[in-house]
This record gives sequence, structure tokens and C-alpha cells, in this order.
Amino acid sequence: MSRPVQARRLEGIDKNIWVEFVKLAATYSTVNLGQGFPDFPPPDFLKEAFSRAVSGEKHTLHQYTRAFGHPPLVKILAQLFGKLLGRELDPMTNVMVTVGAYQALFCCFQAFIEEGDEVIIIEPFFDCYEPMVKMAGGTPVYIPLRPKAPKEGKLMSSADWQLDPAELASKFSEQTKAIVLNSPNNPLGKVFSRGELELIADLCVKHDALCISDEVYEWLVYDGKEHIRIASLPGMWDRTVIVGSAGKTFSITGWKVGWTVGPNRLLQHLRTVHQNSVYHCATAAQDAVAQGFQRELERYGKPDSYFVQLPRELQQKRDQLIQSLVAVGMKPIIPEGTYFLVADISEFKSEVPDVPDSDEPYDSRFAKWMVKNKGLAAIPLSAFYCGAHKDNYNSFIRFCFAKVRHTAEHLCLWQGHTANHYVPHSDASAIALAGS
Ligand code: PMP
Ligand code: GLN
Repeated sequence: MSRPVQARRLEGIDKNIWVEFVKLAATYSTVNLGQGFPDFPPPDFLKEAFSRAVSGEKHTLHQYTRAFGHPPLVKILAQLFGKLLGRELDPMTNVMVTVGAYQALFCCFQAFIEEGDEVIIIEPFFDCYEPMVKMAGGTPVYIPLRPKAPKEGKLMSSADWQLDPAELASKFSEQTKAIVLNSPNNPLGKVFSRGELELIADLCVKHDALCISDEVYEWLVYDGKEHIRIASLPGMWDRTVIVGSAGKTFSITGWKVGWTVGPNRLLQHLRTVHQNSVYHCATAAQDAVAQGFQRELERYGKPDSYFVQLPRELQQKRDQLIQSLVAVGMKPIIPEGTYFLVADISEFKSEVPDVPDSDEPYDSRFAKWMVKNKGLAAIPLSAFYCGAHKDNYNSFIRFCFAKVRHTAEHLCLWQGHTANHYVPHSDASAIALAGS
């Protein structure tokens, strides 16, 4: 590789929002709703499975396992995803275990992208897609979800943020290698509808493009919404890699167990990248996750399933956070999924001191001001946009509500705003805001 190519691949990707905001939160926050991870414990059945894996009789669980995934884990993943996708999956060729979804994404970009390939990224996007595409030598092509104004007196929903079909079509070209889809979406919480997925799928088929489908929040959907897997749409299985995460599925982000599911014609290339970089991920963690899935398959759809219980609890937290934010004068956008919520902070412009000649977006200055002055940590939404679009979406911040301390009581450290301009929704799925 020549030096200019190497330089271009690393250009502008030296900064990292998590490094900066995790440090700020650790220094100043009383209530940390910033980085996305649950601060409550994972389910007992999973902790017990991990304890058994490390202290049981099976000493082999302390040693290397199969490079592309511990056999019990790939087998159960093939069984579960086979059921979800309605097709038979081969655990050895259709599934690969990775060090978190992060490494799964990295393998995808390294495996598929060649110098000059274009990758379509839907904004706002989980920040690592951009540097990963660039490091692989590709060119990101961005398309924003565009917000529609909500009805008078109603809060906006993540469903109000939509792709413009003609604009999306215009982003596909001869150079398009792939589109990255993230549904449910971090940071908005948008759950793409069947119609939206069909639009993307039709363009992928028409332009022979791949779909890297980041579905790490697949179980976190609310108000009876359905998570639809794009790989199940006509013509999509053969061109889609599904990316998943045990971190989000079982509230164990620190274990760093993730996976890819897809056709062998694509996964064979991921295996090459994986075996020559990471080789495999921690055996005991994989074994415990396999047991967790075994339990969930036995309880699939039943009230005591963690996949049923976790979203139910998170939906309550979401609703409490919405009420708390409305009470301090923000305008939350109701997320249909994930454990994130984006809120409009444009009404606070007068409170945050202006920094002359600063090119830092308002939301970033606001988030820093908020953690230092109110003890409340959140992430500026502009961090989830490319450099050219940051200024178009600079009056929102993202909160994570997978937290114990997230209610009005905890946000009472915030003083000076008590406005509640919003009336309750009238439809059944909506959240009553008044009188809260
Ligand atoms: N994709 C998205 C959309 C995420 O929010 C995250 C969170 N870290 C990841 C991928 C990475 O997941 P993991 O922690 O399993 O690496
Ligand atoms: N996915 C998590 C978030 O969006 C964590 C990101 C990270 O730490 N890299 O907050």
C-alpha cells in the first residue's frame, strides 16, 4: 500500500466521541445517560451460566475453541435464526461468532470493500461505520433520514424520520458495493417498516449491492412494533450479512460476544478476515451465551422469556424518561426501539454560552455544558452525522435509558425549567404526558 492511500484511509478518523464523552461523564456526571450500556445486572441465568463455564468441570472452556465460533453457540444461533428467517441454516457456514458486533462490522468492511467502492450510510448512524469504511479504502455516501413535523401538540416519533425514496435511489451507482442498514436504529430508535425495507431491498437487488444489516437491538422494540429482518425479503438472503450482539441481547456489553449470520458465499470472506486478525473470542463467554440462547429458545414468546421481559421494562423506562425530559422543557422524540432517545434542545440556546469562532456544533457545546452544570451526561446527535451534515442536525442530544437512575427524581438535579407544553397523545399506543 502506498503512503498516500494509507494516509487517506486514516484521514479524519483520529477523534472518537466515546473517548471524549466517557471521560467527561466520569469527571462531572451525577446521572450518566450517555454511553449506551445497561447499568443494571444481566439476568441471573446468564451469570450462573458464566460461573459454571469458568468454575465447572469442563477445563476445555478455559482453552481455545473453534475459530469461527464455539460449536454450542453457532449451533444454537443457527437454530434460532433459522426459525426467525424461515430457512435452514448450517451452523458451520452460515454463522460466525465475533468479538462483539463491532468486530463483525469491521470484518464486513475489510472483507467486502475495495479501494474506491462506495458504501451508503443512513444518517444518523452508529459512528464507527464511517471510519471502518474509510479504513477499508471505501468512500461513504450519506443519506439522511428527514424529519417530518409532528401534529400540533404531539411529540415527534422516530417513525417521523424517513428516507426520501428518490434521494435514496440517487445514492446508488455503479460504485455502490453495500448499504449499511441499522434497524432498530442507534441513535434515533427508529424501527424501519416493511415498506421502507422493501424500498432498500429493491435498490440492493437492482444495483447488485450488499446489505450489512446491523440488528444489534433486534429484541428492543416497543408498543407492539415488529422487527423485520431485511434478509427475509425476496432476493435479500444472498446479499445480506446480519450483525448481532449478545451485549444488547442479554445486557452484557462487556462480554463482547457478537455474530454474523448470512450466506456462505459472503461469510467465507469474513472468516478469512477473522482468522487472520482476532482468531476467536473468549470460550467461556461464548459457552454461557449459548446456554442463554438455549433457555430463550425453550421460552420463545412466553412471558418469562428475557426477550419479552427486557423490552417491557425498558419501555417503562423510556416512558418515564420522556415525562422527565418534557418536564424540564425538552422535546423528546419517542423511540420505537433501542434503549436510546433523542431530544430536541433548541429551546436552551440562550443558556449555553456562545463560543466565538468555534466550529463545534451547538449540541456538542450543550452536552458539555449540561454535564458540567447539571451533572447530566448525554451524547450530541451531531456525533452521528458526517462532517458535512453535522450543522444541519445540531440541536438534539441522545440519552440512554437502560439505566437505573433515569426518572424525574434523578433529573431533579436539573433546575430552572418546568415547562410542559405538550398535551397527551390520544391513540392507544401513545404515552400520556400530562399530569405526570
Ligand atoms: N452496532 C450498533 C448500532 C451499536 O449501537 C453497537 C453498540 N456498541 C454495536 C454495533 C457494537 O456492539 P458490541 O458491543 O456487541 O460490539
Ligand atoms: N453502542 C453504544 C452507544 O452507542 C456504545 C458505543 C461505544 O462505546 N463505542 O452508546
